[in-house]
Amino acid sequence: MTQSLGELESIVRNKICKLCTERTVSGECGLEEPSACALFRLFPQVALAIQSVQSDDVGPYIDAIRRNVCSVCNEQAPDGSCETRQMVQCALDAYLLLVVDAIEEATGKTFDKKGVGLAGGSTVSLGPQIQL
Ligand code: SF4
Ligand code: SF4
Repeated sequence: MTQSLGELESIVRNKICKLCTERTVSGECGLEEPSACALFRLFPQVALAIQSVQSDDVGPYIDAIRRNVCSVCNEQAPDGSCETRQMVQCALDAYLLLVVDAIEEATGKTFDKKGVGLAGGSTVSLGPQIQL
């Protein structure tokens, strides 16, 4: 199974937005500017960063997001800090494990993040990569 970037974004929207605390009861994004959500504003970079990692540990995914997404995000301060992240208002950061799972499931890879409390039991198996 191969996924286009648009299809992948739809899958992730479907899984993450419905869990997101910013979502309104009517099912809309409650951000003042929904297009400002870093998860989808920078989705191509997010997808590439996650696809570049093959690990059962969440650390390398966080590193890849910091390196490839936060580095080009206008919310990041020159010193690498991010007030939006500190206030748990970045959906990408807040739901990173779920985003990783959604993308890897959609692209044919399932895995068990060690020690992070996700429902596990799956094993690593690499599948086709997305088409960007
Ligand atoms: S903030 Fe982002 S993840 Fe949350 S509902 Fe809005 S678009 Fe979806
Ligand atoms: S954590 Fe901050 S810098 Fe990184 S993507 Fe989110 S808003 Fe942007």
